[in-house]
Amino acid sequence: MRLSRYFLPVLKENPAEAQIVSHRLMLRAGMIKQSAAGIYSWLPLGLKVLKNIENIVHEEQAKAGHLAMLMPTIQSADLWRESGRYDDYGEEMLRIKDRHGRDMLFTPTAEELITDIFRGHVTSYKDMPLTMYQIQWKFRDERRPRFGVMRGREFYMKDGYNFDLTKEDAMHAYNRHLVSYLRTYERMGLQAIPMRADSGPIGGDDTHEFLVLADTGESEVFYDSAVTDLTFGDRDINYDDKAQCQSIMEEFTTKYARTDETHDEALFAEVPQERRKVARGIEVGQIFYFGTKYSEAMGATVQDGDGKQVPVHMGSHGIGVSRLVGAIIEASHDDKGIIWPEGVTPFHCGIVNLKQGDAEADAACEDLYHHLTKAGLEPLYDDRNERAGGKFATMDLIGLPWRLTVGPRGLKNGVVELTCRKTGESEELTPQAAIAKVIAQYN
Ligand code: ATP
Ligand code: MG
Ligand code: MG
Ligand code: MG
Repeated sequence: MRLSRYFLPVLKENPAEAQIVSHRLMLRAGMIKQSAAGIYSWLPLGLKVLKNIENIVHEEQAKAGHLAMLMPTIQSADLWRESGRYDDYGEEMLRIKDRHGRDMLFTPTAEELITDIFRGHVTSYKDMPLTMYQIQWKFRDERRPRFGVMRGREFYMKDGYNFDLTKEDAMHAYNRHLVSYLRTYERMGLQAIPMRADSGPIGGDDTHEFLVLADTGESEVFYDSAVTDLTFGDRDINYDDKAQCQSIMEEFTTKYARTDETHDEALFAEVPQERRKVARGIEVGQIFYFGTKYSEAMGATVQDGDGKQVPVHMGSHGIGVSRLVGAIIEASHDDKGIIWPEGVTPFHCGIVNLKQGDAEADAACEDLYHHLTKAGLEPLYDDRNERAGGKFATMDLIGLPWRLTVGPRGLKNGVVELTCRKTGESEELTPQAAIAKVIAQYN
């Protein structure tokens, strides 16, 4: 992409309404624009990051054997009356009437609709286990929408649902989700710690929230600092292997880590003093096992091996896809702007031409652009007729991990400059070597 043809409405001034750094930087970098309280348009740069995060979620869900599907945002109230949640959900639910006076709603989550799909098609234990998920817009009429996309009213969420014959199978689904989520967050450059949580209006006993530690997080968290040493890394995982999934779940959830809702002072006191941490965290996902709560209420039963009708065991599992954009920025920025982890960056590399219009500099930039593109990368070439200082400030603000700087002086010596956004370190390399180094970062 050439910046001269892009839509990147960067703001010079700090927007007064933004209280936290991710909100401020998303507005300043021209990623989003508010349209109403807690409701945003995603501008081209913001959308690219959102889609990158979405793709990682899809890829990791596919590896776990979970099936992507898509349900509507507008749903009929009738299904929600069957489960009892039409009344229970309260003011967070946006209720709508259609022209015939029928009660509709904008989906805040989708347990009812997926259960309806399941009961309409699956009648035998032989068609299970089954896990389906979607990545779809949700609406919750939050009392205090704030912090930009972190607590929006309209937000983008992955929500997945497992249907199993037994509790044991459903717990395997739970563990699969835990493992796939660990991988998902790590690919985004984030450490998200599973913490024992409270199930709230979804119901059920087993639930973990995934929290990214950050001072601006809305949850208070209590944990054994040893949990921050755990990483998933690139170990091999067989999602059909119940024992393996279970042991990873235990590895990541045995040490003390809880949100304030389930915090237990007596248990916490057993953690060695120097490892006891109290901090704040951003909830970026949550997994639940809730047994037969919805299947019983809505008659989602199957025939088991003995020919008996039994309600299925279910769980649901969410990732805050749009919230993650903010969470990643909270975890990765400096006073000049965003620092994208390579896994989610909107462009792989920036190209800054120090002297636009200089035949040699222009040609060298075109050449870099061409080679990076041919290698399957997406560079962002700042080809505008602007001062170098302004170009650098824009690149730093939008946070691309790598920047190539091209000017007549360097070219005279046969070099361009490659700068790492994270460390700020620069080196002079031949164009070929610089291209090879950038490509190597993404392999
Ligand atoms: P919170 O405690 O922050 O209100 P929640 O527990 O109500 O979140 P879940 O029902 O667990 O949310 O939804 C799954 C995920 O969707 C959450 O872990 C979070 O990352 C994301 N999410 C929930 N509400 C919002 C929101 N208002 N704006 C953006 N993301 C949200
Ligand atoms: Mg909530
Ligand atoms: Mg919560
Ligand atoms: Mg939650």
